[in-house]
Amino acid sequence: MSDFEGLRALVTGGASGIGRATAELLAARGARVAVLDLDPSSVEKPLLGYRADVTDDTSVREAVAAAVADLGGHGVLDVLINNAGIGAQGTVEDNDDEQWHRVLDVNVVGMARVTRAALPHLRESAHAAIVNTCSIAATAGLPQRALYSASKGAVLSLTLAMAADHVREGIRVNCVNPGTVDTPWVGRLLGAAADPAAERAALEARQPTGRLVSAAEVAGAVAYLASPLSGATTGMALAVDGGMQGL
Ligand code: NAD
Repeated sequence: MSDFEGLRALVTGGASGIGRATAELLAARGARVAVLDLDPSSVEKPLLGYRADVTDDTSVREAVAAAVADLGGHGVLDVLINNAGIGAQGTVEDNDDEQWHRVLDVNVVGMARVTRAALPHLRESAHAAIVNTCSIAATAGLPQRALYSASKGAVLSLTLAMAADHVREGIRVNCVNPGTVDTPWVGRLLGAAADPAAERAALEARQPTGRLVSAAEVAGAVAYLASPLSGATTGMALAVDGGMQGL
């Protein structure tokens, strides 16, 4: 199948986890794909890697410009996957102002920065689509995730607002809401737990399927929302959570 033949895509946070699986899937389906990441050293052909920090506007603008030029579409970008993000644990009492500013800067403002730099190029596409990585944390009321949930709630609202703002320009904007996904991030979280096996079992039990979601399963949902197959869908959140919210 080659849903993305001739299309050009940019994936933030594409050197690891969900972003990496997404970049690889889009490339396997025919897209030319550029990855923006803090550390793109592990990014291999056919993916193109660019070092950028989504909290630094200059680095974002330079990396987006370089990626769009190298993708070879004469300034056209078809797909933007806003995926870079970081976590935070604790109740509202546990995170100080510095942590709040940091997580919101990466997860929310970072998304706005990359989108701002990419929009002039997306406007040139006949199939423009943006997919933001949100989370079930946006709506599930998870314990011990106050700051992270607030950041993903903002991502959900941003997705809806961007969809409304750009629908008449032919740019679709959707998001995916993953449950707990088996990525290096969750590996780090489990590694820091007092009893990693028990913590993993608890995370698995939280999802009705009894297992963690795979990065490839999230990538599949992202690819659907990024492809012309979902051409009439905008302003939607697609849950990829093993039934957590639906059952
Ligand atoms: P990950 O840590 O495996 O990958 C995240 C990538 O983002 C890394 O390559 C990292 O270098 C990059 N990144 C982080 N900060 C950056 C910055 N300032 N600038 C540029 N790149 C930066 O994590 P993952 O689990 O694949 O998570 C990816 C996205 O999925 C995040 O937005 C996260 O909130 C979301 N998500 C993850 C889960 C989960 O359970 N893993 C669940 C729901 C949502």
